[in-house]
Amino acid sequence: MAAEIGAPLVFVEQVHSADVHVLPAQDAGPGRGTGPAGEPGPVVRADAIVTDRTDVALAIMVADCLPVLLSDPVAGVVAVAHAGRRGLLDGVLEATLSEMAALGARPADVTASIGPSICGACYEVPEQMREDAAAHLPVTASRTSWGTPALDLRAGAVSVLQDAGVPAEAIDADHPCTLEDERFFSYRRSAVTGRFAGVLRRG
Ligand SMILES: [Zn+2]
Repeated sequence: MAAEIGAPLVFVEQVHSADVHVLPAQDAGPGRGTGPAGEPGPVVRADAIVTDRTDVALAIMVADCLPVLLSDPVAGVVAVAHAGRRGLLDGVLEATLSEMAALGARPADVTASIGPSICGACYEVPEQMREDAAAHLPVTASRTSWGTPALDLRAGAVSVLQDAGVPAEAIDADHPCTLEDERFFSYRRSAVTGRFAGVLRRG
């Protein structure tokens, strides 16, 4: 994929946190967590990566969780975030936007893509978990297509991004459900599964 994109991919060790890894400046070299397969793996623990660099591509791994790709083309700042239930509720998207802002980005200029992820009609959770999530983010309360409590993390992410100032028309959440669409890995569909990546590079 790095050869296809023409730049090394930067990964992080994802831990379902709200921690954001901001890449060092371009003259500092590719940095930790970078390299083609076979080289040492990511050593930075974080669930989002932010950069204004053009010489690397950012990659976030998912299988049901939300891969959120953010870009401010005016300031030239990009980010990828892994937003699962915990990260979303703990504020990983707010933290990512905040680090983007530190590099000059403005929410009003940000476009967002919430990639393939489990949908609100499939992500079944215990009733108490739905209540706890809805206490923080009311729009996440959902119901499965078979009538049990569920969470709509995409609606939650859209709500968080809009509250932070990202324009509604700049948010694209219209992507397949990973549980329903077998082209994608889904942890819920098969406990032993792979991951796919959301990848973004500043142009
Ligand atoms: Zn679904």
